[in-house]
Amino acid sequence: MILDGAMGTQIQSLHLAEEDYAGTASGHVCRHHSDHPQKGNNDLLILTQPKALEDIHFDFAIAGADIVETNTFSATTIAQADYGLQAAVPDLNAEGARIVRRALDRATAIDGKRRYVAGAVGPTNRTASLSPDVSDPGFRAVTFDDLRIAYGEQIRGLIAGGADLIMIETIFDTLNAKAAIFACFEAFEAHGTRLPIMISGTITDASGRTLSGQTPTAFWHSIKHARPFTVGLNCALGAAAMRPHMAELAAVADTFTCAYPNAGLPNAFGQYDEGPEDTARQLAGFAKEGLLNVVGGCCGTTPDHIRAIAEAVAPFAPRKIRQEEAA
Ligand SMILES: [Zn+2]
Repeated sequence: MILDGAMGTQIQSLHLAEEDYAGTASGHVCRHHSDHPQKGNNDLLILTQPKALEDIHFDFAIAGADIVETNTFSATTIAQADYGLQAAVPDLNAEGARIVRRALDRATAIDGKRRYVAGAVGPTNRTASLSPDVSDPGFRAVTFDDLRIAYGEQIRGLIAGGADLIMIETIFDTLNAKAAIFACFEAFEAHGTRLPIMISGTITDASGRTLSGQTPTAFWHSIKHARPFTVGLNCALGAAAMRPHMAELAAVADTFTCAYPNAGLPNAFGQYDEGPEDTARQLAGFAKEGLLNVVGGCCGTTPDHIRAIAEAVAPFAPRKIRQEEAA
């Protein structure tokens, strides 16, 4: 299956100003009051620029994405505290899921393909297993329960808005992800349903580890109790650098795998230069090697990247889960 590409890059290309973020120009003024400037609060665009976001989701769907993520990477009370918009969290998540559903239904009306809304759950801007203060290594800026409660509010919103699955992504600290997994289980129980969970880690270290120090194998063993629909990697690396880490994960995980690398590495201006054909050719190599069940793009990937990736991987069979592991 094909996953969508980057929201951030597409939003940047709209060149939105403070009044666009706050909605004062469009008339979609956020009904949740905040005295903070909102420029850069991409999640808020769910409430203030819904049509622009719906069009981005639609472009990714038509380009070939079967699974499209909500624009809710930072829609937790922890991340929204920077903007004074903690109270908007239930609306951001429920509306975020509804916008994707509308975009996917428009695409399905054209080509008849069934598509799925992935409720995106980001890592937040705090880390539960590391201290942000080098002189006080025992200090924590956030606890497991802070994260569990914040993620729970987000996930209940995503379910209320009609998300088909939950995507816990860009995991640099596995303890944050474990709080999100626990919050999923609590929300599923309260709602009386269980959605598939996709789990995606991020390799930030040159030695092939997450920020909290785990190799892909260790990461898998830490989260496999969640029985995720997919486990994989996204962000931080381009496809070339991600490949050995995906190969390691694909060899140990007895579930489907998912890779969505950045469009190469950022240049000196923080922009991603790797073109659609380049990214697609490398990911076709992943598919040929049998590493992939789901594939898409992270930072810098556009609808053209997703179209090229979908075409490039089409000739190859999805990865098979090894039977002795599945049993
Ligand atoms: Zn990324």
